[in-house]
Amino acid sequence: MRTTRAVTEIVPTHIVREGGGFKVRRPYRMGRVMSPFLLIDEMGPVNYGPGEALGAPWHPHRGFETVTYLLEGRMRHEDSAGNSGELNPGDVQWMTAGRGIIHCEEPQEEFLRTGGKTHGFQIWVNLPSSHKMMEPRYQEVPSSESPVVEQDGVWARVIAGECMGATSSIDTKIPITLIHVRMGTGARLIQQFEPDLNGMIYVFGGEIALENKMQVKVNPMAFGIGAKQQIQDGELALLSEGDEIMIKSKSDSEFLILAGPELNEPIERYGPFVMNTREEIHQALSDYRNGTFLS
Ligand code: FE
Repeated sequence: MRTTRAVTEIVPTHIVREGGGFKVRRPYRMGRVMSPFLLIDEMGPVNYGPGEALGAPWHPHRGFETVTYLLEGRMRHEDSAGNSGELNPGDVQWMTAGRGIIHCEEPQEEFLRTGGKTHGFQIWVNLPSSHKMMEPRYQEVPSSESPVVEQDGVWARVIAGECMGATSSIDTKIPITLIHVRMGTGARLIQQFEPDLNGMIYVFGGEIALENKMQVKVNPMAFGIGAKQQIQDGELALLSEGDEIMIKSKSDSEFLILAGPELNEPIERYGPFVMNTREEIHQALSDYRNGTFLS
């Protein structure tokens, strides 16, 4: 028998400043509750005047992956491994920091000069302890190459994993699903999952509701412990286990579907380093200070 996922908890968001001072919208609760995701930051939307756009100047990372997905605006990046490039709307950059990378994420020069709207996401995906010290790597998927599917009022870009028959080329060490969805009022989407993966939905436009095909027959307390099944703009919904989610859009809506395994390992975070123990954090700091971080 297939089981349908329900909302178990709604995590609200708040606005914080990151990097060089840019505004992000971020769920109040992070870390273990979102495993394997460490951070889901919605950058903007913000309208910059000429010369105002902000970024994150040179900084290190170790022990996890950063995923940057741009919806509007233009950014450029550069890193200690000699990679550099531009991010335009719809582009995805999946950076595995592994044992260490130093990079900068800044507005593209011309965009900085003219100003404009910036909107996007930076998502931190944890690595299991066995891969925290892996070789750093970059995977970039320009919007022209990313799998996009559209049917019956549902539009989806598959950043990682699979949706409506489209599969992402992004390679991950643990199974990750990351899908950007836009739906028209009344449209429906059924998304399949491996039943034991943690699943969540972050809504950043409009409102959706999760439906349950067994609602009538089953004690509602068994689903979502009585949590409301509507998810609105600026809410992160944590989902129960199950084989699929059934989404109905209550308005024109826009959201991310995220899923991945419970890592079930301790998380020690200090700024841009995410390891399992304090000793590993101390090691990262001393490696960074004494110049052996990248070797
Ligand atoms: Fe970074």
